[in-house]
Amino acid sequence: MSKTACPMCEMTDVLEHADRYECVTCGHEWEREAAAAAPDAPRVVKDAHGNVLADGDCVVLIKDLKLGGGNQVFKGGTKSKPIRLVDGDHEVDCKVEGMAIKLKACFVKKA
Ligand SMILES: [Zn+2]
Repeated sequence: MSKTACPMCEMTDVLEHADRYECVTCGHEWEREAAAAAPDAPRVVKDAHGNVLADGDCVVLIKDLKLGGGNQVFKGGTKSKPIRLVDGDHEVDCKVEGMAIKLKACFVKKA
């Protein structure tokens, strides 16, 4: 029962093109993407130990991290201020020792 139905007339006589559907019954055409435009599932960010991180958690660095070309080094064990989760490959936005930085979740653990 996964047959595509036309959003206009709800008939299932639908032609599948590479990038769109076309309804044979009423002639309506629509993008293939449209059906998959559901909101993304809530993002789950996990720390180095697999614990789920949330906004407002504090994290501890599990290893020394060099930032800014090595001028600034944060030692493993340094604790952050409450974090904010953001998009991108550095998911953890926080302040460490007064500096606003972004960290990869795999380099921290929940405090
Ligand atoms: Zn139709």
